[in-house]
Amino acid sequence: MTNPGQDIHALAAELYPICRSITGSGVRKTLSRLEKLIPLTRHEIPSGTSVLDWTVPKEWNVREAYIQDLQGKRLIDFQNCNLHVLNYSMPVRKRMTRAELASHVYTLPDQPDLIPYRTSYYSPNWGFCLSQKQWDAIPEGEYQVCIESSLEDGAMTLAECVVQGRTDEEVLISSHICHPALANDNLSGVCVATYLAKSLLASPPLRYTYRFLFVPGTIGSITWLSLNRHLLGRIRHGLVLSCIGDAGHFNYKKSRQGNAEIDRAMIHLLQRSGEPYGLHEFTPYGYDERQYCSPGFNLPVGCMMRSVHGTFPEYHTSADNPGFLKPESLAGSLRFLESVVELLDNNLTYVNQAPYGEPQLGKRGLYRATGGNGIADANMAKLWILNLSDGYHSLLDIAGRSNIPFPLLAESARELECAGLLRTASSEHSLVFRTAS
Ligand code: ZN
Repeated sequence: MTNPGQDIHALAAELYPICRSITGSGVRKTLSRLEKLIPLTRHEIPSGTSVLDWTVPKEWNVREAYIQDLQGKRLIDFQNCNLHVLNYSMPVRKRMTRAELASHVYTLPDQPDLIPYRTSYYSPNWGFCLSQKQWDAIPEGEYQVCIESSLEDGAMTLAECVVQGRTDEEVLISSHICHPALANDNLSGVCVATYLAKSLLASPPLRYTYRFLFVPGTIGSITWLSLNRHLLGRIRHGLVLSCIGDAGHFNYKKSRQGNAEIDRAMIHLLQRSGEPYGLHEFTPYGYDERQYCSPGFNLPVGCMMRSVHGTFPEYHTSADNPGFLKPESLAGSLRFLESVVELLDNNLTYVNQAPYGEPQLGKRGLYRATGGNGIADANMAKLWILNLSDGYHSLLDIAGRSNIPFPLLAESARELECAGLLRTASSEHSLVFRTAS
């Protein structure tokens, strides 16, 4: 049996060298690789398209880039690491002194071995990102500087994979696909989402429809929201996945609503995980949850992370490479997400059909008389469900109140439903018990 952690890691390592940005061929190439695993619908949005308060930018591609001495020796070469080019650099081909070059060079003096990741999407610029050591090793003198890039009218690519469920109510899973050679941020999110979609596609249809978005950060989610306003009413829950492949523990940032079902589901599962975790209130900074949770949309979308962006030394540097990803962490993130799906999909609200006194479970074969903790738990699960299923408490509410694991409650609820003792509550709460007479 293959280990999903190894498979996800191998996929991330394969995608790592591709030069991605918010537009361009690197994103398309990445999506083509994902399409070998899951079906994707792509949308090419032309440059210049107005999307909410933004405009889709020109398409950026880069063929080569280097700093070369006058003997023709390449000191810095984009082919070795695509972080070397300031993302969205304008083309440049010029002979210049080291001093002239200096204002276009980005380094990390406090982390002298690492190459920074820098972008200049919305203000025209060009530049090179180097380790401080590489920069220090370049002596005074003249250099041939070349960035062979193009910034032209083209398109921005968005992709989605829709796993149709039994209903059109949706769960949104979004990951940003715009970062070049960076592994945790966010090939981890992209690759785990791909494997989650693959696993859902191979399963019997779930209650919810699961929509996986692979979009460039900020402009991509803004564009998707702008083009899909008609779908937003269907979204019941959502997660942004970012930095979920490193050795750190889980961190969850709540949706703007703060007490949405996704927030309560994540907290419940994290509390029961037996592992350390971090919980964060919503802030209007971070990844695409900022857009999904902008006040006009206010969608119930939280953000699942391991190490939080901006807080680990590898963040946005060349040290965020495939070696920073742990196969067991990737596998653990996939497993956790599968448990989130299981919870959301089964978190129904029921109405006890025999609410006057306890229904006799034994005569229906629902009461396990013999000893053993597991059996007692199964009985307790049924008693809790029958007691709290008044049309107002969901299974997640019951899990919180009873401290019984959600999967056991879900299984017990199915048994009770089959026996005619439970019915799912209709949304309008018309099934509240009649007063006993
Ligand atoms: Zn980032």
